[in-house]
Amino acid sequence: MAHADTIVLKNGRRIVASNVREEGDKVKYETPAGELSLPKSIVDHIEKGGAVPMGDSPAAAANLDITPPAMATTSGGAEIESGAVHDGAIDRGYIAKLEGAARGGEQRANASAALGHHAAAQFELSRGDMEHALADERTALTFAPDEPALLMNVAYMHLRRSEYKQSLDFLERARRVAPTNADVAKLAGWAYYGMNKMDQAVAEWKRALALRPDSEVQAALDKAQRDKQEEASYKENESSHFTLRYSGSAEPALAREVLHTLEAHFSAIESELNFTPPDSIGVVLYTQQAFADITRAPGWVGALNDGRIRVPVQGLSGVTPELSRVLKHELTHSFVGQKTRGHAPTWIQEGLAQWMEGKRSGENADVLAQIHKEGHAASLGRLEGSWMGLPGDAAGYAYAWALANVEYIVQSGGMGDIERILDRIGGGSSTEEALRAVLHSDYNDLMQSTSEYLRKTYGR
Ligand SMILES: [Zn+2]
Repeated sequence: MAHADTIVLKNGRRIVASNVREEGDKVKYETPAGELSLPKSIVDHIEKGGAVPMGDSPAAAANLDITPPAMATTSGGAEIESGAVHDGAIDRGYIAKLEGAARGGEQRANASAALGHHAAAQFELSRGDMEHALADERTALTFAPDEPALLMNVAYMHLRRSEYKQSLDFLERARRVAPTNADVAKLAGWAYYGMNKMDQAVAEWKRALALRPDSEVQAALDKAQRDKQEEASYKENESSHFTLRYSGSAEPALAREVLHTLEAHFSAIESELNFTPPDSIGVVLYTQQAFADITRAPGWVGALNDGRIRVPVQGLSGVTPELSRVLKHELTHSFVGQKTRGHAPTWIQEGLAQWMEGKRSGENADVLAQIHKEGHAASLGRLEGSWMGLPGDAAGYAYAWALANVEYIVQSGGMGDIERILDRIGGGSSTEEALRAVLHSDYNDLMQSTSEYLRKTYGR
């Protein structure tokens, strides 16, 4: 995986793959299952090589080439900035002094402490250290909660991290204090664009341009309008939890039936996981385009969940049991993704999605237990990240082993254990920490128990 590229989709999803290239209106990439392609219209940009470009590198401007909003310098501001950051480093001692002075609650001292943290955040941003930049900018905000420039900078950093919803929260606060600020509209447009809400993105950018001419906004607006046009050939259908798009040649009756099936699966998974995804889930039905679900299920052309559920329905006029299973599998990924805010390891994602679609270890149990007994079981820690780099047979084994471990957790402690593990991961725990807290097991214990479970349940 050393030379893997990253395909960054407009909705913020990242797909790690090798040999990524653009051909016509497609982005093509290699996987162990063969070559896959995505429509270029959903791809934001491609990051070449293993290193993630940061800072001012043009590829890093999440999707749009937009600069962070500037903060007006007040009297004494320059002095504070050069006190907080000098000689290529942040002076934490100096910032601590500013914070100490702010403890008295005096407004000017508060503003200085905010500016100190803001300067530190900008420095970290320029170094590509998004994590600390966001932390410092948010601390700055605690000293000056109504400062529009700080609100917008926090929003900007969330945008760079593809966290569009969080970003909008801060932009709403900024809009309340600065209703005619063009930068608020500019950034809000970006957030909606990232959420694939093109109409709202276009409206915000038009508003921004009316407030102030801006070439960055004009370029973004042009791009959004091109995207809108491209997608105009797709029809749209909505139910309470889904937005479904399909090309004009698909049967409207099929689209309705797919939505109906998805809603039924939604209720089932919702009560199993005791969780309702807050964001509406996008679904795209394809007639011409087939996506192989990476490594799995020979005979099934496959679906893909990259933030939206993408399903090829070529030649189908109704929902078959097989399509229904695939929809439930992909929908599980959406639930787990939203519940863990994108931090679930691949083995839990794929294990649980297979469990939900109705798969059980059965025929694989003997082989899996034997591999474990011989000490050759794949460590779950190594199955946390992307499986794109696994050779075909290893990926098949990874799916089966992931299912077995999830199956053991569910059968021994109930779905409640899975729910608690996911919650902890969503709260920032590593997967192994979450397992320790909920199951009192580490990875080795879990794999041992799974192996024993397989023998007892399926052994002859
Ligand atoms: Zn899957």
